[in-house]
Amino acid sequence: MAPIQLIHDATIVTADDAGSILYDAAIAVSDGRITALGPTSELLARYPDAERVYGRGRAVFPGFANTHTHLSRVLARGIYEDLSPPHAPPFTGGLAPLPLPALTADEERAMALLGALEAIRSGTTLVLEESAGLDGYAGALVDTGLRLVLCERAWDRANASIGQPGPFQVDPALADIGLTRIAEFHSRWEGKGDGRVRAGLAAWAPDMCSPGLLSRLRKLQSELDAIATVHLNQIWGEVAAVKEQRGVLPTEYLAQAGLLSKRLVAAHCRCMTDEEERILGASGAAVAVNPAIAARRGLAARIDELERAGCLVTLGTDNMAEDMVEVVRTALFMERVRRQDGRRPTPEEALVWATRNGYRALGVPDGGWLAPGNRADLILVDLRKPHLTPALRVVSCFVHQGMASDVEAVMVDGRWIMRDGRVLTMDETAIVADADRIARAAWRKLFERRPELARPPGLDIGTR
Ligand SMILES: [Zn+2]
Repeated sequence: MAPIQLIHDATIVTADDAGSILYDAAIAVSDGRITALGPTSELLARYPDAERVYGRGRAVFPGFANTHTHLSRVLARGIYEDLSPPHAPPFTGGLAPLPLPALTADEERAMALLGALEAIRSGTTLVLEESAGLDGYAGALVDTGLRLVLCERAWDRANASIGQPGPFQVDPALADIGLTRIAEFHSRWEGKGDGRVRAGLAAWAPDMCSPGLLSRLRKLQSELDAIATVHLNQIWGEVAAVKEQRGVLPTEYLAQAGLLSKRLVAAHCRCMTDEEERILGASGAAVAVNPAIAARRGLAARIDELERAGCLVTLGTDNMAEDMVEVVRTALFMERVRRQDGRRPTPEEALVWATRNGYRALGVPDGGWLAPGNRADLILVDLRKPHLTPALRVVSCFVHQGMASDVEAVMVDGRWIMRDGRVLTMDETAIVADADRIARAAWRKLFERRPELARPPGLDIGTR
């Protein structure tokens, strides 16, 4: 049997059904699972030989599940946040007027590692990564120690991007390539990293996938027994494009194609009608609300309506940032502003969206909350900070005032991947330096090659 680790003298936020919080408590972990939770004195007596982790002044929280991201898009940090597409016609397509600079496979891996580093530092333990060509950096992600759902992307609309009206020019070769990539990726990566890795699949977006492709993806999802994901009702240009191409709204289109299910994670769901919310909710699908990027785009999902309709609400970062502490708070703030309600949602509800619901949506119902038998995916938050003192209501305090830098340690599957403020699975200094050099050079090259592109104000990409 593996040695037992015992975190003791801590405050333990379980995120269980009752929202239990244990004080002066201990949590025992072995073989990747939580073996016991209880008073410190009791557990110290029960496990005298355990490896001890002193938790005074710290709170143990379940780790965060980020249910929608593209890790290497940190490349566009500080640029795309301010270049969102318009919410009214004319729509020209794409999520930003500037193209993303091209990267080599090595460079993309370096950027993805920067994203993963930021994710771990903000207390993330489970990530759904969506992209095309994940094989190029899946191995590097597995080595970070994160729990992963890796969703390889398919689409079959040629010469267009999300939110672009006009005819749907279908390219059957694109569909075949995407489906093949998904199947190959699955056979290579499913269950890797001692079972920490699940391979899923992604339909890029309703205006990028034909009905034929969607039905093939649904069939492949059943065959692989995999999680599916899709960008849905993300921007108004997408809604306009689907209306023009299919005569229905995006959620109606996916419903007709049979894609809606409990094993679908629909990302965004913010440019949608009541009827679409009802249709999505009736399917029991999970929604990855991405409140930080939504706020930056001037949009908001209607979390309360989605939840009432039957959707499982979860949280993600999407683009340009991987900070789940920021995401939880932004979800709470935006939803309170939208509802014009200073009491609801509660911080406890927001925490469950970010932890337990996310785990459930990604096929790990025994993770994202702390109970004996559950997976040992947890974080230690240092409460001995001016902005967290006094932590009289620890969940409220962390959701309202917490920062990623308060996360002191991160455990996934019973293994510390961050401890005492240091990420153990990555060379942090090298990753930050590499990513900085790569990103500046990539943007510099783009503007040198395309001098007609407008440079965002304040851009510093260096001169060589
Ligand atoms: Zn996305």
